[in-house]
Amino acid sequence: MSVRRVVVVGGGAMGSAAAWRLAARGDEVTLLERFWPGHDRGSSYGTSRIFRLAYADPFYADLTVRALPLWQQLEEATGRRILTLTGAVDHGPAAVIEALHEGLTRLGRPAERLVPEQVAERWPGLRADTSALYHPEAGRLHADESVAGFQQAARDLGADIRHGARVSELSVQGEGVRVRIEGQDDIRADAAIVAVGSWTASLLANGPDGPVRSLPALRVTQEQPAHFPAVDPLSWPSFIHHPGAALPAVGPTVDGVYGLGSIDGVKAGFHGIGPVVDPERRDRTPDPETLRALAAYAERWLPGVQHTAPEPLTCLYTTTKQHDFIADRQGPVTVLGGCSGHAFKFAPLLGELAAALTHGQPGPDRFTLDRP
Ligand SMILES: Cc1cc2nc3c(=O)[nH]c(=O)nc-3n(C[C@H](O)[C@H](O)[C@H](O)COP(=O)(O)OP(=O)(O)OC[C@H]3O[C@@H](n4cnc5c(N)ncnc54)[C@H](O)[C@@H]3O)c2cc1C
Repeated sequence: MSVRRVVVVGGGAMGSAAAWRLAARGDEVTLLERFWPGHDRGSSYGTSRIFRLAYADPFYADLTVRALPLWQQLEEATGRRILTLTGAVDHGPAAVIEALHEGLTRLGRPAERLVPEQVAERWPGLRADTSALYHPEAGRLHADESVAGFQQAARDLGADIRHGARVSELSVQGEGVRVRIEGQDDIRADAAIVAVGSWTASLLANGPDGPVRSLPALRVTQEQPAHFPAVDPLSWPSFIHHPGAALPAVGPTVDGVYGLGSIDGVKAGFHGIGPVVDPERRDRTPDPETLRALAAYAERWLPGVQHTAPEPLTCLYTTTKQHDFIADRQGPVTVLGGCSGHAFKFAPLLGELAAALTHGQPGPDRFTLDRP
């Protein structure tokens, strides 16, 4: 398709990745981000996100494998160090670990079953539950470097990257879009990609005349992991402790505990338990109760960290009912979002998918805007 003018709204991981992939197709791209570079108001900031191939669901497992070379391509294009493969340890009930192992085997990727004693021997800072699995093609993505890298790569291909540009309204006009920016001139373009994370519902909620006909329900929560001091945190594998064996499947551990080493220490967090918030008015103060529960978890399961000295941080999840992302187009508007607390690892692939949708190609059924 010929070069077209596309506006990307939102400069987190998803919008920045989409801008890169559009620019790589030769489109004339403008990325509009309301905050400053490296800001901490959304979902994509910080020094670490887990990359891993171990998904029991073959659909997502396949996407992880497709995302991996795109991360490597981004590193080559920008000269930045973004993905460090440290390996990952999953541990918990045998049935869960078995399903993950089967998923990796199906994909032909290396993985190794371990007993807790072997985990303790190889990573003395980590205590494993009943059953464990190690896979080497996993590790740490540097989140800030990723977002800056996507934007750098897009800019190098001619994209116009603007910070301090808050979109106040997006409307469909004829076959294209009109984008209103606070305090700046409107932009008209052939198409838009909306990747505004936790602000998706508010930007797209313009009633029947809005830019899209339908949007799945989105739950915005403030999550609260913490960094724990540790000796040589960068040598840690990423880890997921699945509930159901020694970890109770109730209370804060209902969806398990994740963690990984970073330059800020060993990060650990309960997955998706935070309170529902309005991203515009949220209280970014950490909740002391959650912090206490996390420190108690670290005392029992992370003997290699200083559990008495957690440094909490807050971040937003935007979660769909089935935890499936949104990547779909209606008319000239493509929506990329609903990242459900696990999308960072897929960012370059989702950016490519959004670019392809904008060019009229179909996307996965599971990511559609119209869903029951
Ligand atoms: C604590 C935490 C840990 C996580 N860990 C992992 C992990 O280990 N592995 C993994 O794969 N995923 C992880 N995730 C999920 C992952 O980080 C998110 O899925 C991803 O960052 C979402 O990116 P996004 O671009 O959709 O949202 P955001 O990063 O929030 O980007 C949206 C952007 O849109 C901008 N914006 C909003 N409104 C407007 C407007 N009107 N005009 C212009 N700009 C606007 C915002 O300022 C923001 O920059 C984690 C998330 C959190 C919060």
